[in-house]
Amino acid sequence: MYHWHRVLHDTKSMSQEAVIASAPRVVDPDRMIHPDEARATIFRYLWRLPMERVSLREASWRVLAGDLVSSDDQPPFPAATMDGYAVVADDPSPWREIIGRQSAGYVADLEVSLGTAAWITTGAPVPSGATAVVPVEATELADDHVIVQQDRVAPGENIRPVGVDLAKGSLVLQRGSLLGAAEMGLLASLGVDPVEVARRPRVSVLSTGNELVEPDETPGPGQIRDANRFSLIAALQEAGANVIWAGRGPDDAVALRSSLIERIAESDVVITSGGVSMGDLDLIKPLLSELAQVHFRRVFMKPGKPFNFATSSDTLIFSLPGNPVSALVGFELFIRPALRRMLGASQIDRPRTRVRLDHTVRPSDRIEFQRGIVRVDSTGRLLASTTGLQASSRLASLVGANALIAVPPGVDPLPAESHVDAILVGPLATGDDEKDVDTTGS
Ligand code: AMP
Ligand code: MG
Repeated sequence: MYHWHRVLHDTKSMSQEAVIASAPRVVDPDRMIHPDEARATIFRYLWRLPMERVSLREASWRVLAGDLVSSDDQPPFPAATMDGYAVVADDPSPWREIIGRQSAGYVADLEVSLGTAAWITTGAPVPSGATAVVPVEATELADDHVIVQQDRVAPGENIRPVGVDLAKGSLVLQRGSLLGAAEMGLLASLGVDPVEVARRPRVSVLSTGNELVEPDETPGPGQIRDANRFSLIAALQEAGANVIWAGRGPDDAVALRSSLIERIAESDVVITSGGVSMGDLDLIKPLLSELAQVHFRRVFMKPGKPFNFATSSDTLIFSLPGNPVSALVGFELFIRPALRRMLGASQIDRPRTRVRLDHTVRPSDRIEFQRGIVRVDSTGRLLASTTGLQASSRLASLVGANALIAVPPGVDPLPAESHVDAILVGPLATGDDEKDVDTTGS
């Protein structure tokens, strides 16, 4: 019997490389494998995307391709952190002559000495000779001189020394960093433009099924609209992929075959949905066997048991089941980390944590990733509840969900207050949001 949470904790202490090396080679692609083995198998076939140079304004949320070492000191000059007067700190003079002004953006020709002070603004370079800045609130102005409260002047006070924010030669950002707001600001302040980032993986998405029509079409008898192409495009964009092609195909061996050949040739990653079950119109399975090397087909999990992973030279092919929730859960568990890994991202996985069930959960015969909402209560506990009916066709079970709750396989219901693992796919909810928000306008 598999115990997903135990395996998870075992592998946590190992490096990613060790996990990969420990994975047994899949000899029989039809053997049902554990999710951890599926992941490790995929990871053996991943390769690192090359770097490319992009202009800084296009670099947000990309992955940095190399370590960034500071080429400058920040600030490059001692700078005032307050509006006030630059003075000599241990000057015993009862009052000081104001010798001029130094505001931000240039260097005035000023030399502060005993008995003198220079008016200065925040961010301005501290004139030579000055050893402190007295805030304007601690001063009194009289004609052309200023009286300072002596107890408010200590050496170095209100001066940002050279290199305090960033020292020249120091490691600023590590390779694999995600370029969010702070990282973008750092790159800009160091003048890194263009910036070297990992090229985005080129991904094609193919929905298969005779029953599928476009979102703007009215389905005829027995038809439904293609949901997976659009949910997968959004998931791919969030993961940092470049969707170069997305389309739809019928359950027709000739059409699917030529479409797959074309997609494989032009893509780093091909994702298909549908056609991997046991029906005689499930044509993806035999086509993969013909066009690629299939590594596994079935994973011991719910939803998403039929999950095909194959490679054709460098191209990775993931064939997901057609049920919309199965497709997205498979994407989340296996494809997203694979893409993040190919990008060289230092963080490839979502956070995982133990949570306390709010209510009874009925397990299945496989590891089940139930969609749920994890919220933190006022005492800091993480509480989880599921999003209602967990049918693999019910996309609504993923709407608003911030977690995949890993329910170990079993027979007996897990009572409320049991602890289980959860993968956090979105921000934590808080228990009492509603109470904090006053909508009455009073
Ligand atoms: P399949 O994996 O092809 O056997 O499909 C399983 C179920 O998912 C069937 O009910 C299909 O109609 C449905 N399905 C397949 N592809 C899609 C899609 N792209 N969007 C929405 N539902 C789909
Ligand atoms: Mg189908």
